[in-house]
Amino acid sequence: MHSLTRILGVPLATAALLVTAACGGTATNDPQAGDKLDIVVAFYPLHFTAERVAGETAEITNLTQPGADAHGLELTPRQTAKIQGADLVIYQSGFQPAVDDAIAQMELANVLDVTTVATMHDVDAAGEHVHTHSTEPAAEDEHGAEDGHDTDDHGTDDHGADDHGTDDGHDHGTTDPHLWLDLDNMAKIADATAEKLGEVRPDDQDTFSANAEALKADYTTLDESFTTGLANCERREIVVSHAAFGYLTERYDLVQVPIRGLEPDLEPSPARVAEVQQLAREHGVTTIFYETLVSPAVAEAVAGDLGLKTDVLDPLEGLTAESKGSNYLEVMNSNLTALKAANACN
Ligand SMILES: [Zn+2]
Repeated sequence: MHSLTRILGVPLATAALLVTAACGGTATNDPQAGDKLDIVVAFYPLHFTAERVAGETAEITNLTQPGADAHGLELTPRQTAKIQGADLVIYQSGFQPAVDDAIAQMELANVLDVTTVATMHDVDAAGEHVHTHSTEPAAEDEHGAEDGHDTDDHGTDDHGADDHGTDDGHDHGTTDPHLWLDLDNMAKIADATAEKLGEVRPDDQDTFSANAEALKADYTTLDESFTTGLANCERREIVVSHAAFGYLTERYDLVQVPIRGLEPDLEPSPARVAEVQQLAREHGVTTIFYETLVSPAVAEAVAGDLGLKTDVLDPLEGLTAESKGSNYLEVMNSNLTALKAANACN
């Protein structure tokens, strides 16, 4: 797919040749100098990164529409064509099966899979991050005693791009995809984006690198706000809509109590809801968090039973008009404000 802007940027005779070439079906991935780069990103945090690092040099297309569920993204033929024609595609393997499938069928010159630079954590059946790959045999796991968890992580998990690696018949080894809620990962993704863009357009490498440095400085400031803001709190537990916050809770020494598992669209079992309510009571939780992109009904039901408040904690899988902030940094700052209020931090 050739964009008109690309063709219009060159002399007429050349343009005519290009049109001819395009009609012949030849794909090109070497953008003309002066044209905007055509970047396709899979979902919001990658969009934010590309915007900041590419600056004015690029047009960016986000495959996940505002308000749509990033996990369950499905691609239109137009979007698939857009991926095929992009100067650079930035995505996260194992998170959106439709994107994985589309990319697997293409020979793309410039692709960045952010899992190749980020640090990812596995989770156990309860959604807790595990730090080392267990070498224990399956027989030693404890799932039998915790039936309430078993439906959390699975059920709609029919894509399985990332969790069939250890086919040993038990539930361990699922990787938490929400890696963008760790600011170290976001810094690594900023650097990798600058590097890839420099390969696509070497003339602008200095701009990309400087933009990435500025972005990382913003992440450092944000990280310090979280560290100091959450240092002294009356409690560490947070009850959340789905298990999206493992990277964040781990980084700032909080404890995530997710109503749902890694996927946001599963209905929690009554047993899981009862368990969450019990944990909320035990820890003196004041607030049940919900998300802008997931129905608050379950969170409201949990909170109502216990006489608690609800508030938004945003996993940044997408931005909408209702988001508490217009970009990644602003929404994260809103998250910090909500966390400090809920956990009585000072
Ligand atoms: Zn999620």
